[in-house]
Amino acid sequence: MKKETKIINAGRQSKWTRGVVNPPVERASTVVFDSVKQMKHATSNRGKQVLFYGRRGTTTAFAFADAMNELEGGAGCAIYPSGTAAITNAILAFVKTGDHILMADNTYEPTRDFCENVLKRMGVETTYYDPMIGAGIEQLIQSNTRILFLESPGSITMEVQDVPTLAKIAHQHSCIVMLDNTWSAGVNFQPFDFGVDISIQAATKYIVGHSDVMLGTATSTEEYWPTLRENSYLMGQCTSPDDLYLALRGIRTLAVRLKQHQESTLKIVKWLQTREEVGKILHPAFNSCPGHEFFQRDFTGSNGLFSFVLTRGNQHSLNALLDGMKHFKMGYSWGGFESLILGVTNVSRTRSVTTWDDTYPLIRLHIGLENVDDLIEDLTHGFERLNQTL
Ligand SMILES: *Cc1c(COP(=O)(O)O)cnc(C)c1O
Repeated sequence: MKKETKIINAGRQSKWTRGVVNPPVERASTVVFDSVKQMKHATSNRGKQVLFYGRRGTTTAFAFADAMNELEGGAGCAIYPSGTAAITNAILAFVKTGDHILMADNTYEPTRDFCENVLKRMGVETTYYDPMIGAGIEQLIQSNTRILFLESPGSITMEVQDVPTLAKIAHQHSCIVMLDNTWSAGVNFQPFDFGVDISIQAATKYIVGHSDVMLGTATSTEEYWPTLRENSYLMGQCTSPDDLYLALRGIRTLAVRLKQHQESTLKIVKWLQTREEVGKILHPAFNSCPGHEFFQRDFTGSNGLFSFVLTRGNQHSLNALLDGMKHFKMGYSWGGFESLILGVTNVSRTRSVTTWDDTYPLIRLHIGLENVDDLIEDLTHGFERLNQTL
């Protein structure tokens, strides 16, 4: 089945929909049983998509978990109230005091903060590695290394990692390979084909797609699924069926949305290449982006999120550009239908083993579903404001 078709059908098994097109919102805390036998059956199968108690999920959650497994190719999917909760709980499920993990140096800032605060306090040590390290990762693996955590492309600076090489070496040393797969949305990169054991997404982004729900997922191979599932349950992780309904609705248009985000973004990048205000463009589909060759080899498409470095300006001129934008709103997050802009003046702040040499500010854009000409006009005026301050 091609991915567009898979996206339409994912999670819509009749046991969840009971004949209607969309899996319904099923709200529950208590599930009641008519007999001891029924109750025992539910209890002994409580990890297996059987109604047991609200915290284990209802049919809306089962449908969404199935949809994510079908999308990414996982054997099981744990659902969390945010992408950050998915990352932290997936890590916590597999470490104990005295363990060590390897974390990409360009990882999402809250992931780094979790390592520096919670993991450190628990006596779990983190070593950051250059996302472009490739086979060199072997030198950083210790006898107590439990997890190799990847994020590809990385946050803000967009480096694409050599996932199969990293995964192969990690497995030779019995490390679990986890990937923050948010950028690909599970559509443009199939994590389990490249050796990933647990694939994590901030479903908040493209899966939900409309900037109105916080949600996280961790899909897993058969091998790690029981531990991931039971530890998520022990941590009390559960999500609202209303949010899951919205996520299921979001998934249906995922392929067409991504296609449009990609098309508009490629047009805008080509236009940016003609602008003298624009230096290095950090978009995986262009060869100025570190790891472009791995993107070409492993991904089937891109989306609306990328960064570029200015060739001029300081904080004051960056503010002039940002403050007058009409369609590009300033905001964290991305993956909704709307365009967003983020100015970054201190990339080094969230790095420890890699350097960032550019002196001029970086801009991260999320290209939404507005008309491209309107967006280009908005950016043109932004560059004019920037130039006026110099
Ligand atoms: C947004 C994001 C997260 C966190 O997701 P939340 O739902 O906001 O907690 C994790 N990883 C990446 C790459 C993200 O962009």
